[in-house]
Amino acid sequence: MANPDPTRDDLPVLGLDADDTLWENEAWFHKVEGRFRDLMEPWADGATTDAALLATERANISRHGYGVKGFVLSMITTAVELSDGRVEGRRIGDIVIWGHELIDHPIQLLDGVTDALDHLGATHRLLVITKGDLNDQMGKVARSGLADRFWRVEVLAEKNEASYAAALDRHGVDPLAFVMVGNSVKSDVLPVIGIGGRAIHVPHTTTWALEEPDPVAAASAEFPVADRLADVAGLLAAWPTA
Ligand SMILES: [Mg+2]
Repeated sequence: MANPDPTRDDLPVLGLDADDTLWENEAWFHKVEGRFRDLMEPWADGATTDAALLATERANISRHGYGVKGFVLSMITTAVELSDGRVEGRRIGDIVIWGHELIDHPIQLLDGVTDALDHLGATHRLLVITKGDLNDQMGKVARSGLADRFWRVEVLAEKNEASYAAALDRHGVDPLAFVMVGNSVKSDVLPVIGIGGRAIHVPHTTTWALEEPDPVAAASAEFPVADRLADVAGLLAAWPTA
């Protein structure tokens, strides 16, 4: 997805997270978690189901990666364990269908995102850096209607200092001149600051438990917070070298 306009090559690169920064994501997972609580009702109360599912996800993230497929496998694993193997096959089929619904869900852009990207794209080359399933994430970019606004799109298995450093190197971006924007302090802010870049936090309404940052690291890092993506341009203008 390289931008063909050579005059833009001098513009600084701005990194953008996608899920819950550009469009709604976690809310759809929460809906499915509600259905899963109902499905598990014969064997466990809601709090027990939530805790068991989260523990399964946490234990398997290195095997499953982030995204819908891992979520579905974790629900199936949790259903079998909590029911002691008694959950019916058709219920497992329901869980798989919920996963398909998540993957096929229409993209709901967050308020003001299109206008904000138009502003940011006038002064920056926009590099989307997201994590999760490659097909799922690239499909969301395509369905978002925003693809033309992005310089490039990068899907990482994990967002940490090493993966950011490698991604920026692949795109020829100096970390010291790089700014990342996203809703997760753990994934979008701290690792970028850790490699010498800067980051702007744009919080979303909910934060997945596995995206909670180390509180000590979060408290010691300095980064601005924007209420909305539309406020990011103003913050960047206050950073002359960005
Ligand atoms: Mg996000």
